[in-house]
Amino acid sequence: MEDFALVLNAGSSSLKFCVYRRPEEQTWGLEARGQIEGIGTSPHFTVKDGTGVKVADQALAASVRDGDGAIDVLAGWLRQQYGGARVRGVGHRVVHGGPNFAGPVAVTPQVLDELRRLVPLAPLHQPHNLAAIDAVTARLPEVPQVACFDTSFHRGQPEVATVVPLPRDLCRDGVQRYGFHGLSYEYVASVLPTVAPEIAAGRVIVAHLGSGASLCALRGGRSVDSTLSFTALDGLCMGTRPGALDPGVVLYLFQTLGLSPKEVESVLYKKSGLLGISGISNDMRDLLGNTAASAQLAVDYFVYQAAKQIGAMAGALGGVDGLVFTAGIGENSAEIRARICAACAWLGVDLDAGANESRQTRITRPESRVSAWVVPTNEELMIARHTGRLLGLAANA
Ligand code: ADP
Repeated sequence: MEDFALVLNAGSSSLKFCVYRRPEEQTWGLEARGQIEGIGTSPHFTVKDGTGVKVADQALAASVRDGDGAIDVLAGWLRQQYGGARVRGVGHRVVHGGPNFAGPVAVTPQVLDELRRLVPLAPLHQPHNLAAIDAVTARLPEVPQVACFDTSFHRGQPEVATVVPLPRDLCRDGVQRYGFHGLSYEYVASVLPTVAPEIAAGRVIVAHLGSGASLCALRGGRSVDSTLSFTALDGLCMGTRPGALDPGVVLYLFQTLGLSPKEVESVLYKKSGLLGISGISNDMRDLLGNTAASAQLAVDYFVYQAAKQIGAMAGALGGVDGLVFTAGIGENSAEIRARICAACAWLGVDLDAGANESRQTRITRPESRVSAWVVPTNEELMIARHTGRLLGLAANA
């Protein structure tokens, strides 16, 4: 019988998935990659096969209201496509691993209990990640599941980069800087020796610029600092999150404006960042195409913060050899890359405009002191590798 393995990345309004298949006596390969977007509003299902050809593209009934409903749709599609296939394992993206998980872990009821306690630290992501684990447990109780964390890759950072400077007794139960987007950074670090060998062993700043955005400082492929910290609110300006913010503003929201904790949470996670500044959209594409002053200010702030914090990461590394762009904005927006590189000219970044426009892997001139690169991320592949290794599936994925 053929073996299958799944990777699930469950968000607040989307379920991204990959299906890996191992025909009898053969090796693992990517069979399908897809997503259900617009869960709760106008759900839509798309799937591409392993070669990138679209094999499903359909609007779903509005009754697909939550992650559980999305898993039902996926399960139905898998049954229809692959009949009685045997699922050997399911790997999940879980945003927060807290202080105790420095690497991927097989899911047990005890592990789940511990991960549920971290929900307040990642209210936008963690509940959906865990709901997907529950949904798989309910449907396939015998199938082993693996949780892969966005925090793990950063766990070897020096203490000076992870300490939170509050009274020690308040920090006892895991109040520290964790860092996120770790699966993305781990993937990028794993391919640098092949795609950018001249910087892989050096000092590299990776800019993961998507709906969530952060920087990671790599030395020799290991994380030494990151802009996201205790929660996924710190650092760069994001789609709906503010990034670095004077905590006095949060006190003001509570004390002077009288907002409740839930209201403040909603402001910080859902209403700020690009959306907050522009009042128009959290989507970079919409803002780049909009001439309103507030839209332009939002883009200016995004670029300004990215460049400013690249300077801080260069300081943490004691210099920089390479700058890598990844994720939705980093991979697709030549304009944002060009603007950030221009603001980093003082560091020695000398952009090759043609290479940037045509999205070459290396986008700086040959003589540039600091090279810049575009490296597409693949968090799902990283999860597949971890899951395969942990479950002993000998995955070649
Ligand atoms: P996530 O996985 O966190 O949802 P992505 O990495 O998919 O986020 O990034 C989403 C962001 O990428 C959105 O702000 C979107 O506007 C932006 N994006 C995608 N393509 C482009 C493009 N061609 N130009 C500018 N921004 C883009």
